[in-house]
Amino acid sequence: MDFRFTEEQEAFRQEVRNFLEEELKKGTFEPSCDGWIQGYSPEFSKKVAERGWIGLTWPREYGGGGRSNIERLILTEEMLRYGAPAACHWFADRQIGRAVLAYGTDEQKKELLPRILKGEAYVGLGMSEPEAGSDLASLKTRAVEDGDYYIIDGQKMWTSCARYMTHVYLVARTDPDAPKHRGISEFVIDANLPGITISPTIDITGSEAWGEVFYDNVRVHKKYLIGEKNRGFYQILNQLDYERAGLERLMGNYPLFDAIIQFTRETRHNGKPLCEDTLIRHKLAQLQIEFEIGRLLTYRVVLVMDEGRAPNVEAAMAKAYCTTFEQRLASVATDILGLYGQLLSESRWVPLLGMAPHSYLGSKGYSLQAGTTEVLKNIVATRGLGLPTE
Ligand SMILES: Cc1cc2nc3c(=O)[nH]c(=O)nc-3n(C[C@H](O)[C@H](O)[C@H](O)COP(=O)(O)OP(=O)(O)OC[C@H]3O[C@@H](n4cnc5c(N)ncnc54)[C@H](O)[C@@H]3O)c2cc1C
Repeated sequence: MDFRFTEEQEAFRQEVRNFLEEELKKGTFEPSCDGWIQGYSPEFSKKVAERGWIGLTWPREYGGGGRSNIERLILTEEMLRYGAPAACHWFADRQIGRAVLAYGTDEQKKELLPRILKGEAYVGLGMSEPEAGSDLASLKTRAVEDGDYYIIDGQKMWTSCARYMTHVYLVARTDPDAPKHRGISEFVIDANLPGITISPTIDITGSEAWGEVFYDNVRVHKKYLIGEKNRGFYQILNQLDYERAGLERLMGNYPLFDAIIQFTRETRHNGKPLCEDTLIRHKLAQLQIEFEIGRLLTYRVVLVMDEGRAPNVEAAMAKAYCTTFEQRLASVATDILGLYGQLLSESRWVPLLGMAPHSYLGSKGYSLQAGTTEVLKNIVATRGLGLPTE
């Protein structure tokens, strides 16, 4: 295995860093934890789009960059390192655009992809429901045919990007009589259609990045069904690998990692810098070891993708490992900061802009979203190790 990047790839990394440094200087953004999932900045997304960095791996014939998954990994790694506010375009770039490319009609590709590529279409992920999380196939939202339309009724929760989305990726039941996995279809629809009501979910960190979305008699033209009717569940499985696979599962709190190391250099305790304390050094060194393991697991996913294989087991392993790393990072940072580490960003005494409590609270959800750690371990056990299903 060759762990080095090529000269072109290193040059691309530098180009991304230069861009981010420049935008930081201009004040376009402040580094933040969870920027990829909670940092909504249409201005920033448009700038990324102008560089051709949305849809970097998509085919050139549809306006994409035609570049490798490794280059996308470099791009996302730098965005995460700088805590850039990339949430407006992240989901469409990462998975929904790819789903449209894989299963969509030519008309769908021509209608949606250029808007995603320009940083104008923000797609929320509408899968989970109050009674359908890990067991997504038990979802109840219905899409009933009516001439050229489907009429959609139901409720979704935890729809990402709900406040900002221009489109929503929606999974609904199209055949109530079929076995539950075989009667589900995928849609990408205009989020402003009559009958759609969005109610923000205020999460444990106080963020309104997600929402409950209610669908009441929503008329959706049939041309917005993605792929094959009633085969949606099987199409989703492929997309979930992309949702789980990225460095965002490891580096969502990188600004905190960076800041806490700096903090131990600058803060003195009993006459010595904190970074000279053996316990603290060991905690940070342990995190660094785990960070590198997570990085390698994620790089492996990308290599599998560039070989044209579905990174199913690899993505499950990487996400299970990386999200628990993020939880440990938040816990170590909060420990090191002591009682001050619990102060929220509003407090005048807050250290590190309140990143530690934000990450401590926010990271509890990481091992739930996009597949819980238990479900991921089931995938590794069954598809990876060949153990029997329960
Ligand atoms: C912060 C956050 C963001 C999210 N973002 C989105 C989003 O953008 N779009 C979206 O559609 N959804 C989103 N979700 C929802 C997420 O996908 C679900 O929370 C997740 O699938 C788990 O479903 P659940 O919450 O219903 O828990 P359940 O599925 O009810 O699980 C409860 C517990 O049982 C365990 N469990 C369940 N099944 C098994 C099994 N077979 N074997 C072993 N253990 C099992 C789980 O691991 C968990 O510990 C988000 C959730 C969170 C917390």
